[in-house]
Formats: sequence, structure tokens, C-alpha cells
Amino acid sequence: MACENPYLQIDRLMVGDIYTAREVMDNLIVLCDELGSRFAGTPEERKAAEFIAETFKRYGLNDVRLEPYTYAGWSRGAATLEVVEPMPKSLPCISLPYCPAAEVTAELVSVGYGSPAEFEKLGDQMHGRVVMANSASPHHLGRWVHRKEKFERAVLGGASAFIFVSESPGVGPETGSLQNDKPAPIPGISVCYEDGLFLKRLIERNGRVVLRLRTTDVNEPRTSWNVVADLPGSEHPEQMVILGCHYDGHDISQGAVDPASGMVVVMEAARVLAAHARDALKRTVRFIGFGTEEIGLIGSYRYVDAHEDELDNVRFVLNLDAAGGGSRKGLMLHHCSEVEEFFKQAAKEMAAEMPLGHKMHPYSDHYPFFVKGVPCASMGDPDSPPKGRGFGHTAYDTLDKVELAKLREASAVAARVALRVANADDFPARRRQAEEVEQIIATDPDLEGVRVARELAQRRGV
Ligand SMILES: [Zn+2]
Repeated sequence: MACENPYLQIDRLMVGDIYTAREVMDNLIVLCDELGSRFAGTPEERKAAEFIAETFKRYGLNDVRLEPYTYAGWSRGAATLEVVEPMPKSLPCISLPYCPAAEVTAELVSVGYGSPAEFEKLGDQMHGRVVMANSASPHHLGRWVHRKEKFERAVLGGASAFIFVSESPGVGPETGSLQNDKPAPIPGISVCYEDGLFLKRLIERNGRVVLRLRTTDVNEPRTSWNVVADLPGSEHPEQMVILGCHYDGHDISQGAVDPASGMVVVMEAARVLAAHARDALKRTVRFIGFGTEEIGLIGSYRYVDAHEDELDNVRFVLNLDAAGGGSRKGLMLHHCSEVEEFFKQAAKEMAAEMPLGHKMHPYSDHYPFFVKGVPCASMGDPDSPPKGRGFGHTAYDTLDKVELAKLREASAVAARVALRVANADDFPARRRQAEEVEQIIATDPDLEGVRVARELAQRRGV
């Protein structure tokens, strides 16, 4: 049924502009083909932050700035993995971010998919062993078990090293950090699907398999930057809606879908809002390129600390991490059901396919805002079942995987949503109290990883 759209004129200008310009893809080419991984600590990371800031300036945004912060840096060193028993053999492998320099020789045990039940079953057998987990999650669990949760359960079980096995054939090893913003207590490496299956067959045939792994990574403090820019509102400039995405990728990859496809969507939304909605905005739209997300959501954690005094005025945060990828462009609301009706109405008046649902994981830049009680959501398909990363976090997350049509669709939704949230006089979201947030963290099945991380931190006295 038709529905009156109070923003029809601005919508037509913004959406028309998005669909008749290639700017969004041109920006993606710079981030991926010119600047590569933009991994934390590389010169390309800094160049990416500068490129995003310069582009925001060119689009006419205000107060464009790089906000620096220090963090626990990590640089990849060479890693080797050898089978010692039952026969000598070398297998290619890579260290995972925050792996320490170490040498471990120990017997191998497999924990399958690394679900809580599988870890429990393995029990004492983990002690002093190399624990190997597949990156997939068992279907019946109904949630995605993140690498960090598997690694931390292995550490809690007394493992001496961790091997992460890709769930997808033909994509090589899958990377991802072992810890957030701190060196890992034991080494962790990744091997490809095929070598993981080889090791599993060795265990099945021989029982005892002994491995030697050597890592040479460097853990040392560094500086990174959040890129922040504003389109100020005319009536209540202190109140704001935030569109954000991280710009750092993993060093083995272009990080084209994750995150660059989302970063260029933030930039494209900034471009068309500045060009066509600047004078109409009642409240501020803030655009953020978060730094160092891939190694622990560090940029967004630093941002919410540095901007603590503004958080009461943040109506809503839309995390666009990887938003220009293949999924539908809906909103996954993170425990803020009070805004569902508002966005249902918005989707109707936008005549857009924008499925709404409730879903959250703690592994991207919305999470530090959630912890502070700030209403937030991520762009994506709320109806898609839990699934693995495919080529994500591998060497194959390259520019060719991203479609211009998807970038446009995501940009149009992001810009139109930001306009509506900025201008609604009675936007129904409310900031959560700390106790309410704690209650959710204690009970939401999708936040199991947070609880495991806390258990480990407690055990290690940090
Ligand atoms: Zn990401």
C-alpha cells in the first residue's frame, strides 16, 4: 500500500545521485587496490585514514579530524608447523594476530567445531596439548561460535597452543585476532581446510600425533586513529546519529567486503547527505571510520571512552561493517526493540526492502556503544541463519567480490535512515542503564563469548 513520504524530494535527490555516480566504487578501488589491507600498524593504515578524512573534507563535512589513540600493536612474523610424529612433514600456516613469539612441541587433539559441549567433552585432554578447532559452528547450536571464544576455551582448558582450521575448501588459512588489544597467552596459528582434514585423519589413523610450531611475531605498542566528521544539525546540533564502519582490514587480504565495502557506504552516505540534505538536518549526522577493529574493536572502545560526555545525545548508531557485501540491506537491532515500529514506518515510506529483526553479536564496532547503553544496530539480513565467513578473513576477500549494485543499495538505505533518525522529533530510542546492559550480557545466548572472555580475564587476574 502506498504511504506518504515526507522526505520524498530529498530521497529522490540522494538516491538518484547514488545511482548515477560511481564515486562509491572509485573509493573502494582506492581503499583496496591502492592501499591494500590497511592493517593495523602498516603505512597503508595511516594513508587510508588520511584518504577518508580528505574525502570527507571534499564532500564538505565539518570538523573532519583524526583522533589518535594508543593500543597494543602486533606485527606478523614467520610461522612454521611441523608434524614430528608419526612422520615428519611441514605444513604451511600463519600466526593469528596477537600471537606471541613462541616454540611449542606437543601432542595434537581436535575439538571438532569447538562448541562448548565439545570442549567439555575433551576436558583434561587439552592440558599441555595443541588444540585444533574448525572455524565452522555446528548447526544445532543456533549461534555462530567465534574464533576468540574457541581460543579462550582452549586457554582455559590448559592448552599449550591453538590451531584454527578454515571451514571452506580452497581459501587458504582464515585469519582473525586471538585477543582484543593485548598479546595472547599462548600461540595460535591457522591452517587451510585441506591441511586441517589431513591432521584429523592422522589422529584417526595413529592416535598420537606430535606437532612442533614456531612463531616469531612482534607485540609492541602503537598509535592508530578514528576518522570523525560531522554534518551539523540546525535545531539540535548537540544531538546526533552516527554512521560508522572500521577501515582496517587483515594483513593477508584486501579486506574488500569486510570492512571496505561498508566504509565506502559511510562515505557515500556522507556525500549525498552533504549535497542534498545539509540544510534540512535538524540534528547532527556524525560519520566515523573506526581504526583497529580487527584486533579488538579498539577504535570504537577508545571512541566511546573519549566521547563519554556526548553519549546521552547519541540517538542511534548504525554500524555499517561490511555493509556493501552480498546480504540484504536490513537492520539488525541490538536490544532496542522500542525503535522497531519507527523503522517499520520508515521502510514503508522509503518503499525500500529493509527487513528488520533483533540480533546481536559482540564482534564489531556497535558493541562498545551497546556496552555504554547507546541504542545501536548493524546493517545486514536479520533473517539469515548463523554462518561462517566464506572467503572473509582470507586472502580472497578482494575487490572483485563486491558489486556496485549492493554498494548503492546499502548507501541509499544508510543515507535515508540517517536523515529520518536525525529529523524525527520523537525518536523512541532510549539509553540503557548499566544494570540493564549487564543483565543482557549475562543472559543473551549470542553473548556467550563475552562471558568466556570475562572468565579468562578473571582467571588471569587482568
Ligand atoms: Zn569487519
